[in-house]
Amino acid sequence: MSTSTATTAGTTDTGRAADAAPRRYDHWIAGRWQPPAEGSYLPTTNPATREPGDEVAAGSAADVAAAVAAAAAAWPGWAARPAAERSDVLHAVADVLAAHIDELTELELAATGKVPAQLKVEIDMSVAYFRYYAGVLRATHGRTIDLGAGVHAYTRLEPYGVIGVITPWNLPLNQAARSLAPALAAGNAVVAKPSEFTSTSTLHLARLASAAGLPDGLLNVVTGTGPAVGTPIAAHPKVRRVMFTGSVATGRHLARLAGERLIPVTMELGGKSPIVVFADADLDRAAAAAATAVAFNAGQVCSATTRLLVEDSAHDEVVARVVERLEALRPGVDFGPIITEAQFDKVLAMLADAERAGLRPVSGGSAYPDGPAAAGRYIRPTLYADVAPDQPLARQEVFGPVLVTRRFTGEDGAVAAANDTDYGLAASVWSGDAARGLRVAERIDAGQVAVNGGPLTVETPFGGYKDSGFGREKGLEALHEYAQVKTISLALG
Ligand code: ADP
Repeated sequence: MSTSTATTAGTTDTGRAADAAPRRYDHWIAGRWQPPAEGSYLPTTNPATREPGDEVAAGSAADVAAAVAAAAAAWPGWAARPAAERSDVLHAVADVLAAHIDELTELELAATGKVPAQLKVEIDMSVAYFRYYAGVLRATHGRTIDLGAGVHAYTRLEPYGVIGVITPWNLPLNQAARSLAPALAAGNAVVAKPSEFTSTSTLHLARLASAAGLPDGLLNVVTGTGPAVGTPIAAHPKVRRVMFTGSVATGRHLARLAGERLIPVTMELGGKSPIVVFADADLDRAAAAAATAVAFNAGQVCSATTRLLVEDSAHDEVVARVVERLEALRPGVDFGPIITEAQFDKVLAMLADAERAGLRPVSGGSAYPDGPAAAGRYIRPTLYADVAPDQPLARQEVFGPVLVTRRFTGEDGAVAAANDTDYGLAASVWSGDAARGLRVAERIDAGQVAVNGGPLTVETPFGGYKDSGFGREKGLEALHEYAQVKTISLALG
């Protein structure tokens, strides 16, 4: 626990400057800052420099209980309001977030060290989630069921009540907004637990939502570690559904807990997603997409397409083009650091294991030995070519800037290689023959497939097959995840 003399964020409503002294953040519960019951705080560091960052409250079950009580008191009144009114409030939240993009960007930058262009994409999209669900909630209803004359049968979409949202450190604000917006739109209240490494943007989202008119208690943020805060959220009797984004191991733990309690969970877990490139593809665009999978968030994206599968005749050409792009990437300019020290160590350990197994990178393969990048948690963009499919590097999620390649021949070979994984979150297919692109996309076991760079947005549902999890975020589908269906049937006679 830290003993720093940082000021308490609860004393001011303004944003922080990039060079501001570290601050101490309390929980956001029932529309106000509330200190942790046990009185202690957790330190953070800036991943780009390893300098000390803001401190966040070290939450406990007592803080979770206070947040759940606030949420339980708040949601019935919210759910009873007409959809149009809830929509107006969520539009106001989007407006206020949009007006504070600079502040949210500074907070996220300090916690993650991300590069500005990428932060802009993530934070704009965070605002867009609120706008989108503010819109669709007015057009998403139950239905009437025709049971013949004399009967009026219909369904209603009803909220669960209190929903727990547990999010990781890789896209902090974005992943929080992705769950919070549909959860609130459907009439629920939320207790959110961001990662203890990257909590400040989610805390500020909640503060700004309150300022925009979201009733107190609907959006509570309790910070702290997974065992101290996440597990008590999922175990609390009044939490009726859990949305989890994170690792497979934690997902299994929370799914077991939810199974005991018989509550539904949405699991957004890991991936080892393929990018499939046929020889007739636009090889430059495909190579750029492969390099982006490594550059974007330094590969710390669950849907990153880090298995580069290339038709045999084009393999060496594609590898050369990707390597050229990787070697042009500048740390701190084109890509950011690894966000946690533990993850930095894990990526390097995987590279060391690969080295021991006889694998030699075509590019990268280490941290930076010197210069400014060595002070932060930067890892060189890395590519290993022709990695045997049974190698750990070809099977395990690295969650870092590491690509592995494999050759295939023909459509069947492409599909077999793409599906040779325990995961199934996303995929990318590149071919000059769009029909073939679609045929292959339909045969890949993954929740989301982009063909020739097709965009994936707030509107497009996202979620896993196989060990990548279950349930869907984004799109209309997410609104249904956060609502349960009630059937009502009336005999008219
Ligand atoms: P990552 O490897 O991305 O950190 P985790 O699954 O460890 O993935 O973390 C994702 C989220 O789950 C974080 O908010 C983390 O604090 C939380 N978490 C970690 N362990 C537990 C746990 N035992 N119970 C509940 N939540 C947890």
